[in-house]
Amino acid sequence: MSTLKVVAEPGFDVAKVRADFPILREVINGQPLVYLDNAATTQKPEAVIEAIANYYRHDNANVHRGVHTLSDRATRHFEDAREKVAGFLNSPSSRQIIWTRGTTEAINLVAYSWGMNNLKAGDRVLVSWLEHHSDIVPWQLVAERVGAEVVPIPVTADAEIDLDAFEALLDERVKLVAVNHVSNAMGTINPVAEICARAKAMGALTLVDGAQAVGHWDVDVQSLGCDFYCFSGHKLFAPTGIGALWGREELLESMPPFLGGGEMIETVSFAGTTFNTLPFKFEAGTPNIAGAVGLAAAIDYLSNIDRVAAAAHEDALLTATLEAALEIPGLRRIGAPKHSAGIFSFILDGCHPSDVGMLLDEQGIAVRTGHHCTQPLMAHFELPGTVRASFSMYNNRDDVDRLIAGLKKAQSLFG
Ligand code: PLP
Repeated sequence: MSTLKVVAEPGFDVAKVRADFPILREVINGQPLVYLDNAATTQKPEAVIEAIANYYRHDNANVHRGVHTLSDRATRHFEDAREKVAGFLNSPSSRQIIWTRGTTEAINLVAYSWGMNNLKAGDRVLVSWLEHHSDIVPWQLVAERVGAEVVPIPVTADAEIDLDAFEALLDERVKLVAVNHVSNAMGTINPVAEICARAKAMGALTLVDGAQAVGHWDVDVQSLGCDFYCFSGHKLFAPTGIGALWGREELLESMPPFLGGGEMIETVSFAGTTFNTLPFKFEAGTPNIAGAVGLAAAIDYLSNIDRVAAAAHEDALLTATLEAALEIPGLRRIGAPKHSAGIFSFILDGCHPSDVGMLLDEQGIAVRTGHHCTQPLMAHFELPGTVRASFSMYNNRDDVDRLIAGLKKAQSLFG
């Protein structure tokens, strides 16, 4: 059936990678699964599934306070996982890695802990039009309380951050700039190192939402020059409910706790409570230990993969998809960023995005439809939503062919 060139990316064996992901052998509505909803969440390799099961089979206990062997083992796994994340992000120390439930909680932590204590009336937080709601709403909630303002950085018709407009917005009122590394709606790879450098030159802090970046490449927070970076494990082949916030150490030291409870304290008394050191000061309550174990296993799994070749493979899939899809009459790509991380957002004339999604699902093809938690961006493009196909390293040329054939079939059904 394939009309597309089948070219293997040097150094990357997609068949071998696919074999590691058991869910890719699922049959959906009578067809082998084509999973193109990777921007929503990635699938998990056997190594991650096994690591979580083994943790529960052999090592499960609560961490940090136990005096028994299992608690020691659980604590070791949990803190080793923190070291792994520190290595993955090239953090100078694991004290700068705060466990969170994911990107959303990490941004809320910074908004409430740093924002509530440092923003005041008249201050500004800049966020781009490309942001996910989780990098807009926490800032709005805090800004409203302190009288600060959340100001959007315009984007171009290609869905890229307009750097000139950004420069024009940068003044002494701006205290923090929060942008995503990769747009989940359009795939845009944002020039975050440049954005951070410009913000820093004006004395503003920077937060980078890395939710969509980590699934495609290893991140180096030091070379990016940001003040905060966060991501969700489930976009990195790890379980849901675990993620991390990285922050510059002196900033994290200066920030008050976000949530109160066990683990985050040093001493508690009715005369006054003192707090634990970093990173525990920000980690109230029993953490997601198995999630951290799973995330460490995902990072280990990726360390055996040539991620540069994997990213080139994803690029080739996106290019092949664009070439074939743009031949389909009535199909319109939304946003055409020069640098895109495996995301194709589009609409089909005369077909509501959710109908397209349902017709693709009937053919075993999973895509996302709707506003992708980016309602301001959709409003900017005057659309209720798009269909989004998002690629990961385990997708192959057959997935592209199936998507294109599926779209043609969906279109024919709409007549
Ligand atoms: N930021 C971006 C760019 C995202 O794509 C997502 C999830 O889709 C989030 C933030 C929120 O991530 P989570 O729901 O895992 O906290």
